[in-house]
Amino acid sequence: MIDTEVLDRFRQAGALLEGHFKLSSGLHSNRYLQSALVLQYPDFAEELGRALASRLEHLQPTVVLSPALGGIVIGQEVGRALQVRSIFVERQDGKLTLRRGFTLSPSDRVVVVEDVITTGLSTRETIEAAQAGGAQVVGAAAIIDRGTDASRLHVPLQALVRLQVAAYEPEACPMCAAGQPVVKPGSRT
Ligand SMILES: [Zn+2]
Repeated sequence: MIDTEVLDRFRQAGALLEGHFKLSSGLHSNRYLQSALVLQYPDFAEELGRALASRLEHLQPTVVLSPALGGIVIGQEVGRALQVRSIFVERQDGKLTLRRGFTLSPSDRVVVVEDVITTGLSTRETIEAAQAGGAQVVGAAAIIDRGTDASRLHVPLQALVRLQVAAYEPEACPMCAAGQPVVKPGSRT
């Protein structure tokens, strides 16, 4: 899959909107991205999972590890395509942790899979959780990379799309300055 095909799937599902948006952070943006809206369709999720898996199989992973909640659906699809286990970490006392009896061993080759990687913070934290579990992390992947500094991950990063999404304080927003009405995504109009 090439990046324009991936973005077409997002647009078809209403998961990528273009306009003038007020984000939950309060910042304004010209794009709104909600990958859960594309992943709700099993055929899209499967297709995206297969595309990521094809970029990861050379790493010979034995486990897919995802941060909850956003990474779980795509992690499952990548695991299905690679025919390996797919497990997740979730927050406990503020820290991403393996729970529910999920285990890793030193023979495990882990790939960390997420829907969208923005700062890389949750990716790094997930990598650390895998290493704390004794496993080797061989790579990381996301459907969309919003411009993370991949060198800080210390493992190779694969993404289907690289997409910069600008965010502005309302006072500095060029769309506001142009008098364009602002929309809060997710709210009914
Ligand atoms: Zn604005």
